[in-house]
Amino acid sequence: MINHYLDNAASSYPKAPGVGRAMADYIEQLGVNVGRGTYAQASEAALTVLETREKLKRFFHFPGRENHVVFTPGATYGLNQILRGFLKPGDHVIVSSMEHNAVMRPLTDLQECGVTFSRIPADQDGKTNAADLVPLLKPNTRLVVVSHASNVSGTIFPLEETAQLCRQYGIPLVVDAAQTAGYLPIDFEALGLAALCVPGHKGLLGPQGIGAMLLTPSFAKLLTPLTTGGTGSASDSELQPDYMPDRFESGTMNLPGIMGLNAALDFVMEQGVESVRAHTKMLTQQFLEGVRRLPVRIVGPNDPEQQVGVVSLDFCDLDNAEVAFRLEQESGIITRCGLHCAPNAHKTLQTFPQGTVRFSFGHATTEEEVAYAIRGINKIFD
Ligand code: PMP
Repeated sequence: MINHYLDNAASSYPKAPGVGRAMADYIEQLGVNVGRGTYAQASEAALTVLETREKLKRFFHFPGRENHVVFTPGATYGLNQILRGFLKPGDHVIVSSMEHNAVMRPLTDLQECGVTFSRIPADQDGKTNAADLVPLLKPNTRLVVVSHASNVSGTIFPLEETAQLCRQYGIPLVVDAAQTAGYLPIDFEALGLAALCVPGHKGLLGPQGIGAMLLTPSFAKLLTPLTTGGTGSASDSELQPDYMPDRFESGTMNLPGIMGLNAALDFVMEQGVESVRAHTKMLTQQFLEGVRRLPVRIVGPNDPEQQVGVVSLDFCDLDNAEVAFRLEQESGIITRCGLHCAPNAHKTLQTFPQGTVRFSFGHATTEEEVAYAIRGINKIFD
């Protein structure tokens, strides 16, 4: 058991109760593939897969059918599938200045094929104004892709206002909810999204290697699959099926991952996203108050209302990597330092190239752990 784990933005720990058991049970007692054989065990596994899609559909208020909830290895895969499968030479995309490399690296690759992008500006706390999207619109703007909250500063993006503008201008909106799925309520239908990409291993408290991409039927039709292959269906043809979810789910799926995510979703839904939000907000408040008088820069909004349970500190005169190392060595506090796969977010926050030490809280983080972390940070200055 790891104590003082404050790196939930990288992956949540501990996972929801029952996740490990569900995965082990599947491997040890069921272990079969789905969509291939017609025996009873395969049908049992297939039912759990369907049930997991249904839970994700409910959790994110997805208006489509559960066959449009596509399993992916994580948020990165879904974002790549959407960007690479949708954009064509000459297309223009709008992103925010705070994006993760899961968005920026595919887009930078796509620049080679004539795709261009503009960034919605953010201030040095990572805050954006949705209206700043409007002057960036061009006749060839085909997509808006934004993260719901920054993985560096925790800053929450103004999603509702942005979604409203995207609806007004008729541009599909894709949301990277890596830092918010399970931590903030997300209503796919009310926002009128085209797609939502989520990892299973962060706020959804499932295992690594499983995630989902939720696509409206009209948007799904516009995507070329990144991977094609065996789906266990339409095996009389060498053409990829065009029906969902097979169109985007070639090859044997991560069934242990789906079993784990299925168990995790029961726990997450029982707890309720509002109560996890209240808990992480309270811890963020406690942490911010605890470090306010120290000679550090609190990078980000410095306001629990405007951020998820992620706080970055710049130790200014000290080396941030050394601080993170000392926190672990001297106090066993686990954080993540560096640039967090988001170089432009750090440039925006004016923490490039020194990076920050990031503290991120989860459903199992306690007030005692936050108090202990504050004492550990104080010791750095003794
Ligand atoms: N986007 C953001 C904002 C993230 O924080 C992360 C994970 N660090 C990702 C995308 C990628 O998620 P995954 O590693 O699950 O593919």
